[in-house]
Amino acid sequence: TSPTPTLTPIAVAPGDGIGPEIMRATLRVLEAAGARIEPHTVEVGKEVYLRGVNSGVAPEAWEVMRRTGVLLKGPITTPQGGGYKSVNVTLRKALGLYANVRPARAYAPFVVTHHPEMDLVIVRENEEDLYAGIEHRQTDEVYQCLKLVTRDGCERIIRYAFEYARAHGRRKVTAMSKDNIMKLTDGLFHRVFDEVAREYPDLTADHMIVDIGAARLGARPETFDVIVTLNLYGDILSDIASEVAGSVGLGGSANIGQSVALFEAVHGSAPDIAGQDKANPSGLLNAAALMLTHLGQGDVAARVLNAWLRTLEDGIHTGDIAGEHTTRRVGTQDFAQAVIDRLGQLP
Ligand code: ATP
Ligand code: MG
Repeated sequence: TSPTPTLTPIAVAPGDGIGPEIMRATLRVLEAAGARIEPHTVEVGKEVYLRGVNSGVAPEAWEVMRRTGVLLKGPITTPQGGGYKSVNVTLRKALGLYANVRPARAYAPFVVTHHPEMDLVIVRENEEDLYAGIEHRQTDEVYQCLKLVTRDGCERIIRYAFEYARAHGRRKVTAMSKDNIMKLTDGLFHRVFDEVAREYPDLTADHMIVDIGAARLGARPETFDVIVTLNLYGDILSDIASEVAGSVGLGGSANIGQSVALFEAVHGSAPDIAGQDKANPSGLLNAAALMLTHLGQGDVAARVLNAWLRTLEDGIHTGDIAGEHTTRRVGTQDFAQAVIDRLGQLP
């Protein structure tokens, strides 16, 4: 008999809208795939807001997140008005989630794209730059926002990008900045990039000015592998990349901190289809695969992704991606079952 594997505890927040049903589907697949995890449910989102906690994060949830160091999170609906703060901003600040990682790849022919070869990852700095929240009014007619860039911040995100590239078998890391104009702030980012790149001779490193880089990303996304960049540029580039890949609905993302990491789907809570077993769990499933790799369970992540791709290839699709390649149109839980049925088969 084989020894019982050690299970890694993780925090799980089902979230709002379609969150609970896609979380259930995702956890079913992970369990069937033999993920060595022990989920602990925490409460984050709408119900918590409506109880008067304006961060949307239940007080008990903090301890579980800090103890486990990992949160798999469903989408959240922030209620309108009432001064509610976005859960994502709260978690990012409180947990120091300095890196936002968003893979963007094509899934042709199931998802329509002009760039079937595209398969890239954007690693975005998540705490500094113009998004640090340092804004003020000088006079009624003059407002100012401060751009904050630190050597530590640059080094951490750039090192993360190179380590990520190595761990995921990627070959090239491209930095994007505007250091021809912002010679001090973006200049520092570029300089630190060149320094860190020397420690990774096995990987190709190059730098592009972000305007031409963005244009190239739109026109020839298949020429990129890992992109590392500052906060504002990364925000914009991530959306361009998802849109060009045509797979916003399938994407997962990771927010990485020193001691806690958060994994979630790129899409929102889709209240219009909540509770109807229509939602596609693929975004959260892809986020869960990123989580497994982060936990050192890349073997399980690969098994899940292979089964998932096989499901798409077999034409088993939820309504959002159903089209000419669809052989069977299914709901959320049947889709999960179809993935489970394909675990262990070759893609
Ligand atoms: P939020 O306010 O939380 O962002 P939203 O309705 O804007 O919620 P989005 O993710 O932005 O949610 O999605 C826009 C629309 O795309 C949804 O209304 C829904 O019809 C569709 N959609 C989003 N995610 C999914 C999914 N996982 N499966 C199927 N359809 C989805
Ligand atoms: Mg939305």
